[in-house]
Amino acid sequence: MKIKTKRLATALITGAIVLASAATFTGCMPMPAQWTRDPSEHAIPAERGLQYLKDGHERYLAGTGGTHNFDADREILGEEQNPFAIVLGCSDSRVNPELLFDMKRGDIFTTMNAGNFADDTSVGSMQFAIEVLGARLIVVMGHTGCGAVISSMETADLSGLRDGFLENGSNELQGILGQLAPIVAGTTDVMVATRANVEASVARLAELEVVHYHDVMVVGAIYDVGSGEITWFEN
Ligand SMILES: [Zn+2]
Repeated sequence: MKIKTKRLATALITGAIVLASAATFTGCMPMPAQWTRDPSEHAIPAERGLQYLKDGHERYLAGTGGTHNFDADREILGEEQNPFAIVLGCSDSRVNPELLFDMKRGDIFTTMNAGNFADDTSVGSMQFAIEVLGARLIVVMGHTGCGAVISSMETADLSGLRDGFLENGSNELQGILGQLAPIVAGTTDVMVATRANVEASVARLAELEVVHYHDVMVVGAIYDVGSGEITWFEN
């Protein structure tokens, strides 16, 4: 009970800070509202979670996000986590879910690999996030200029990878490309291949029993590493 009371107080204080910052004006321009939510809220519905991400991405594009108060959530997050979204993304250093959605710790459960492919390891991680942590939204996010997708389009041609990679032994890397190759086979357009790769993972995830049981929404998207824009796939 004591902890719950503390949490409530923290949430109220955080809310007050947000309202205060939203109401503070610098000249004619209102200060941007900081992103916040009660990190102890469990199983946020997918539609609301998707709106959180879309709103956060608008802040990212507008350059109005990123001033998070991490202290407010530290005590709660020391005890639990309740991410409302899972992002399956590429390990590419230009793809950073928390940054591009202007989120805080505890909001997004991320599973990343080269090529954002729903392999068994990432699927297992997502099952945990759904069953135990209450995530009800999965975003499979490909991106422009994905080296894994480009290299998979012709697995025999690994010229997109740095010299010396193969010489040093790269069975595991070839394993990744081998998973993607059947999906992008016959495609010469990188964006078509990128989309096909995302759709393949969306299709696999949509079939999972845990996804059906918990009414999880699975959404595909492509992030443009140049412009910062996101193209969302229609469900
Ligand atoms: Zn990539």
